Amino acid sequence: METVSITTSDGYELSNLRQAVIKLLEPLGGISAFISSGERVLLKPNMLAAKEPDLAVTTHPALVRVVAELAREAGGIVQIGDSPGIGGFARVAEKCGISDAARESGTALVEFDEAVDLQGNGTFRSIRLARAYYEADKIINLPKLKTHEMMTMTCAVKNLFGAVIGAEKAAWHLKAGSSRQLFARLLLEIYQLKKPALNIVDAITAMEGNGPGSGDPIKLGLLIAGVNPVAVDLIAGRVAGIPADLLPIEQEAVSMGLPGALFEDIQLCGTPVETIPEIRFRLPTGVDVQFGLPHFLARTLKSHLTSYPAADPDICILCGVCRDACPPGAITIKNSALSVDNARCIRCWCCRELCPYDAMKIKSGMILRVLMLLSGTKNG
Ligand code: SF4
Ligand code: SF4
Repeated sequence: METVSITTSDGYELSNLRQAVIKLLEPLGGISAFISSGERVLLKPNMLAAKEPDLAVTTHPALVRVVAELAREAGGIVQIGDSPGIGGFARVAEKCGISDAARESGTALVEFDEAVDLQGNGTFRSIRLARAYYEADKIINLPKLKTHEMMTMTCAVKNLFGAVIGAEKAAWHLKAGSSRQLFARLLLEIYQLKKPALNIVDAITAMEGNGPGSGDPIKLGLLIAGVNPVAVDLIAGRVAGIPADLLPIEQEAVSMGLPGALFEDIQLCGTPVETIPEIRFRLPTGVDVQFGLPHFLARTLKSHLTSYPAADPDICILCGVCRDACPPGAITIKNSALSVDNARCIRCWCCRELCPYDAMKIKSGMILRVLMLLSGTKNG
C-alpha cells in the first residue's frame, strides 16, 4: 500500500505552517524517516516563472522555507533547485520569493544548468537530467497543485519535468508530439530514473482555470504528502474534483502497472478525505474534450473540436518568447504580426505557459465553442 497523508493549513503563516507540515509527515514517520545526517538533500519546488507567490504559479516560498528548515534540522545539507520555464533562474527565484526562503533558511540555491546522460529502461532510451538533481542523495519534491493545459493537472509527477534543463524541455515536447499519453509516459519514465524520497504538495492556495501559468488562485487549505508521486497525484486530482480519466499521467501509470495508480493501492492518513469540502476545479479551455465520436468523424471535425493558440494583438508586444520556445516552430512573427501554423502546432501550450504578458489566448473550434457556451465555460 502507498501511504498518502493529508492535512489542513489555513495559510502560509510560518509557525502554523511548520506545525501543519510536522503533522502532515507524522503518519509517514516524520522528516527524519527520509533524511540521514550529512545527506545532500535537494528541494525541487515549482519555479515555472517570475511571478509573485500570491498568483499561485509557483510553490509558495513559506512552504519551501519550512521544509528546508526541517530538512536541515534532520541533518541534511539542503539545496533548492529548478530549471524555470522562462525568465532566468535568479530572477524567478527573486520574484517568487524563493531567494528569500533560501536566505532565511540558510539554504543554497542551485540552478539546473548542467545535465547528465542517463539510460532509460522504457520507451525513452536516453534521457538527460540536471546533474544537481540526479546526484543529490535525496529529492524532496514540492509541487504546486495546478490545472495544466496539456496534462489537465500538474502536481508531483509533472513537477519533476523541471529536472530536464532549459531548452531541452522543448525537444521532449517535440518528440512526444501532440500525444498526451506519450508525454505522460515520458514524465513517468523521468520519475522512475530518479525517484523523489518525499513529495509534499502545496495545495493551500492552488490554481484552477487556465493553468499552469495563467489560471486563477483557489484556496483549498490543504497539504498532501507521500513517497509515491503517482499516488499523491491521484489524491490531489480527487481533492480538485478532476476525474482520473482526464489525467493522462494517471491513465498511463495504470497501463504501465505502476504502484499507486489505483485508489485501492492507497492508504489515506490524516484529514479524512470525506470531510474535505467537495470542489470541482474549472479546467483549462485547451483540455481535450472526449466526445466519444467514431475516429473518422472526430478526424473530419478536428478543426471544429480543437483549440489552438492565438495571440491577442492588443496585448502581444511581439517579444518572441513564445516563438523561440515553440517546439515545432509553429509560430512566426512577420510584418509586425504573430501567426500560428495550426497544422504544425502540437498543442503543448508552452506558448501560453511562457508568455510573460498573458497575451497568448485560446481559439476554439466552432463545436467546442458551442459546447463551452452550453456548459458556461469561459474561453481563455
Ligand atoms: S504572445 Fe506573448 S510571448 Fe508571444 S510574442 Fe506575444 S507577448 Fe511575446
Ligand atoms: S504554437 Fe504553442 S501550443 Fe502550438 S506547438 Fe507551439 S508552443 Fe505548442
